[in-house]
Order: sequence, then C-alpha cells, then structure tokens
Amino acid sequence: MDTGLDRDTFDLVLKTLREFANDQLPDSSLIELDARDEFPEEIVRTMLADLGVSLLFIPEEYGGLGASSFDVYRICEQLARIDLGVATSVFATFLGSDPIVFGGTEGQKAHWMSLIGEQGLLMAYGATEPEAGSDLAALRTTAKRVMDGEEVTGYVINGNKQWISNGGYADVYTILALAPDGPTWFIVERDTEGFGHGKPENKHGIRASNTAALSLQDVKVGADRLVGDAEGLGLTQAQEVFGYTRLMVAAFGLGAGWAAMDRAIPYSVGRIQGGAPLSEKQGYTHKLIVPNVVRLEAARAYIEETALRLDRGEGRLNTEGAIAKYMGSEAGNKAAEDAIQALGGYGYTKEYMVEKIKRDVRITTIYEGTSEVLEMTMARDRWQEHLKSRGAFFHDQGAGLEQLATTARRCGADVAALAAHGLAEVMEGARAHRLTRNQHVLFRLGELVAYVECAGAMARRAAAAQSDDLPKKTDGRFSAETLATMSRVFAREAAARVALDGTRWVLGAAEPGVIDTARFGAAVGLEAIRDAQSGLISDMDAIADALYNRS
Ligand SMILES: Cc1cc2nc3c(=O)[nH]c(=O)nc-3n(C[C@H](O)[C@H](O)[C@H](O)COP(=O)(O)OP(=O)(O)OC[C@H]3O[C@@H](n4cnc5c(N)ncnc54)[C@H](O)[C@@H]3O)c2cc1C
Repeated sequence: MDTGLDRDTFDLVLKTLREFANDQLPDSSLIELDARDEFPEEIVRTMLADLGVSLLFIPEEYGGLGASSFDVYRICEQLARIDLGVATSVFATFLGSDPIVFGGTEGQKAHWMSLIGEQGLLMAYGATEPEAGSDLAALRTTAKRVMDGEEVTGYVINGNKQWISNGGYADVYTILALAPDGPTWFIVERDTEGFGHGKPENKHGIRASNTAALSLQDVKVGADRLVGDAEGLGLTQAQEVFGYTRLMVAAFGLGAGWAAMDRAIPYSVGRIQGGAPLSEKQGYTHKLIVPNVVRLEAARAYIEETALRLDRGEGRLNTEGAIAKYMGSEAGNKAAEDAIQALGGYGYTKEYMVEKIKRDVRITTIYEGTSEVLEMTMARDRWQEHLKSRGAFFHDQGAGLEQLATTARRCGADVAALAAHGLAEVMEGARAHRLTRNQHVLFRLGELVAYVECAGAMARRAAAAQSDDLPKKTDGRFSAETLATMSRVFAREAAARVALDGTRWVLGAAEPGVIDTARFGAAVGLEAIRDAQSGLISDMDAIADALYNRS
C-alpha cells in the first residue's frame, strides 16, 4: 500500500520540479552559478515557499503534505538530477527542521512547523564544529543556563560551527550545544545578538550551495528554544533521523549518478570513433556505462526497500540508512567519474556538465557520515548480529534468497545467496581468529555487508518486477527482464568481492599458517562463486542492448 502523497500529487510534484528546473536552471545558468560560486537564494526560496517544497516534508497534522520516505527519496533524486548544490540547500532546510520534527514538544512542533510551511523558511542544521566532525560527541559549543531562582529561564550559547549549509542565509538555525546535562538542540533565529557567520567557503563542488562557519558569542535564547523538554537528548535526537536523512543523501548519489549517465549514454550514440558509434563498442560500454547503471539500480533497490520499511514504521533503520547512503553515494561518484572518461576530452570541459556533476556528487561520500564512518557503522552493527545469531545472520539471508530463487526466474537470487553464505563464513573466520581488532578488516567487512545486502535487495526487486509487484511510485525505466539481468550482474560482483576481498583480508590479517586456506576457501564457496561468473558478458551485452534500445 502506498503511503504519503497521493499518486496525482506525487506525479505533479516531480513534473513541477522538472519544469521549474528547465525554465530557471538550464545548463548555462548552472555553469554560471558554479563559476561565480553563487547561491541562487531567490530560486531556492521560490522552490521552498511558492512551489511548496517545504510543505512536502512537514507532517499533515502541522499543515504540511506529509510526504512518505519513499516520496522523499524520489523527490531528492529529482532535485539531485537538477543540481546537487540547490538540492543541498533544500536538504539543509529539512535537516534544520528535523530536530524539531523528531524531538520537539507538541507546542514547538505546532509553532515552528506551521511557520516553516507557511513562510517557506530557509533553515540550517548546526552540528559540525572545527574539532567535532565525524565525532560529534567532541563538541565544544556550550549552553549555560540562565536562572531565575530555581527556574531555568534561558541559555547563553558560546562556540563555533563549521561547514554549515545555508549558514550565511538561513532564517532559523538548529544548533547543537553542550548544556549542563549534555548535548542539546537549540533554535536560534538569524538576527539574534552575538550570532554571526563567516564568508562562503570556496568549495570543490556544490558551489551553488552556501556553506559557512557560524560563531556564537554570548547568544541569549529563551528556555522555550531548547528542543524538547529536557537537556541531554541532542545526540539521540540526531541519531533518531539518520535512517531517513541518509536515505535522502543516498538518493542524491542516485540522482547525480544518473544525471551523469544520462549525458554519457546519448553522447556515446552520436560519437563515431573507429568507424562506429562508441555505444557499439563493448570495451567502452562494459567498462564505462553498464557497471555504473547496474550499481545505481542495485542502490535504488536498497533505497526503496529501506524507504518502504521506514514508512511501515519498522524503526529507525540506522544501519539500513548507512548501507543505502554508502551504496548510493559511492555508485553516484563512480558513475560521474566514468562519465567524464566516456566523453573523453569533452568530458573534461565545463560545457558538457559531467565534470561539474563529478565535483558536486563528491560531497555525498562526506556529509551525513563519511563513507568510512558508514563502513564502521555497517560492520559493527552486522558484526553484533553475527555474534548474537552465532553466525546464522548472513546464512539466514542466504537461505531466504535460495528460497526466492525457486519461485522467481533467474533474478540473481541464487548468486546473491552465495554471496551471503560466503560473507557469513568470512565473518566467522574473522571471529575465530579475532581479526576485527584490525580496524581495516572491520571496515572492509562493512563494505562487503553493503554489497551483499544490496544484492539481496536487487534480487527481490527483480523478482517483484516479474510478478508486477513493484512500488507504484518507483522509476519504471527498465523491464522486468532487464532488472533480472542487472540483478544477476550485480550479484556476481557482490559474490566476487566476498570471495576475493573477504578471503584476502581474513588471510591477510591472520598469523601465517594458522588458517587452513583450502578449507576456508571451500567454506566461503570460492568454487561456486567462480562458476557463477559464467554468462556475465552475455548479461552485460543484454543490459547494453536495453540501454541503447537495441532489440
Ligand atoms: C559542503 C559541506 C556541507 C556540510 N553541511 C553541513 C551542515 O549543514 N551541518 C552540519 O552540521 N555539518 C555539515 N557538514 C559537515 C560534514 O557533516 C562533516 O564534514 C563530516 O561529518 C566529516 O567531518 P570532518 O569534515 O570533520 O572530517 P573528519 O571527521 O575529521 O574525517 C576526516 C577523515 O577521517 C575519516 N575518519 C573520521 N573518523 C574516523 C575513525 N574513527 N576511523 C577511521 N577514519 C575516520 C573520515 O572518514 C574522513 O575520511 C558539511 C560539510 C561540507 C563539506
């Protein structure tokens, strides 16, 4: 069942955004904004207020449209296809309001949500500090209580914030500061005395978004500006939304990656080299186009599963949000990088846009949790599952996929199952020899977790397509047959990574001679994974045919 926006409203939102972008943000304007390092304030404010983008993210009970996580992912993908700088500015508004939406009192929600919705306020989210990036617990900004007898009447905030999107332009900021009982969110309005911002950062990409440092010197706020009704809940409130906000950044990777591919694919049809279009050259398509499309669509499968689960109320899904973001942002970066190569010398120039997309999408592996921090999150969480289940966690996933393979036609589930069983054994090898004491081994396990779980999601997506059971608001670009072919290719990649990298890091970390390599290789399933590579090239041929509309 679809939740969130009704189908007509959803379609209208995507169409309106596309038309607005065509009209207001053609390539020539985007290139200018990038060159001038300019934040298009009016355009962003028009999107938030006049196009009603602010209302999408506000729950219905506070006068908004109450978009579901699934709606939000599709809208973020669309925004990123337009321009990741503009998308970031819109995202910062949602991020800025999130502490209130998820942690505010009823009174705060009613007040601020209606204000944000009605006036299309520009918001900013002030968590990061010069000394506190990935490690937010190291924050130094303080909030001292102002007392009237026994009663707390307000706070005085002092400190600095770093890399704050919309930092120089926002109307309202949520600021994380250390109150006497611990980290706490505060709402600070732009003109408050003692509150200022630095000049815009001169960035590598997303130059159409404003990023600035903030300074707070004896900034006085009333007690009603403390988000929620108690101090010390700030980090929990920030964690509360990671599943959801990381899904948005995952969608940014997806949108930007596809924006790059959608420039490379038509280019390769028109570009004749060696007597034929590049699109007909396997050494080109199978390196620069097909693997990227497959990875992007596998990431989409995982994003969609996670969005649907969030909409069903299955909890915070922080690990799943991390996997979605990791796969979406890494796939988007690789696709944009390869798009430059696909356009050759033209790709290296500003006019063809892919070099800008590449610079823009780079941020998605840094903000909202760097890829390395996500590797740590994914590895630690699934490591716990492995231990709790006495090694059964990934074997169970494998068994579920084997079951799926008996009902769905060649949807990659059998090979995804090999990858899952293999990972269970890699983890067991790491456990038996206490190898995750090496942080590098732990992080590499995190990467394998992401690939294996994505392969499972892609197989389920391909199977759902066969029974016409995909979510109605999904991107319907590919047929069930093409999705199944993509799933087979992705599952082979996931399995090959488990076989090669999994055994490499376990054997590489263990004392020489301690592990019986033949037995370990057999447990991981090296032979079966090797045999499963059979048919890979003809599947890639079929995907290229689908992408280029060749029968
Ligand atoms: C353009 C832009 C916009 C941003 N917008 C906002 C915003 O609106 N609001 C906000 O609050 N923040 C924002 N940020 C901050 C962003 O979230 C941080 O940059 C990010 O969390 C990383 O922190 P850091 O830059 O301090 O890097 P660090 O945490 O110092 O990391 C540096 C490197 O070390 C790695 N690393 C970190 N910890 C570990 C570890 N324990 N083990 C191994 N490796 C590790 C990282 O993966 C990274 O590769 C923005 C940043 C940028 C660049």
